[in-house]
Amino acid sequence: MWGVDRMDHIDPKSIQPGETPGLPAKKKYYRKNVDLFLLLDKIKLWPAARGILHGIKEIKISGDYAFITTHCGEVIKTRNSRTSRAARWLRNKWIAEPCKRCKVPQWKLDKYSRTYFTQHYGSDLTDRPGQKR
Ligand SMILES: [Zn+2]
Repeated sequence: MWGVDRMDHIDPKSIQPGETPGLPAKKKYYRKNVDLFLLLDKIKLWPAARGILHGIKEIKISGDYAFITTHCGEVIKTRNSRTSRAARWLRNKWIAEPCKRCKVPQWKLDKYSRTYFTQHYGSDLTDRPGQKR
């Protein structure tokens, strides 16, 4: 007879890579009105037009603007706005695919997919020392 005590066993092949069995993946919450630059600096991902998600290599902030260098060598100038396209795309996860040239690691994508933006709950990233604006 097969299948009698299958419920007592976890098939190792059924476990996703990078997942710890028995430990649910942690979710991360940010405020919807989180400062865009602080958020970009934290998650190190840039949603380009057409839904391509780049990895951020460097972010230089100059007043109301930031210069973002992606791992694939693009430099994007963006204004610090919670209502900008990038802010909305990040919040709504309008992502078609990760940039192949940036080689965004899977764990980073997984982490982002477990990141949520809510109105009244989560971090606004201003509580970290030296990050007050
Ligand atoms: Zn890229």
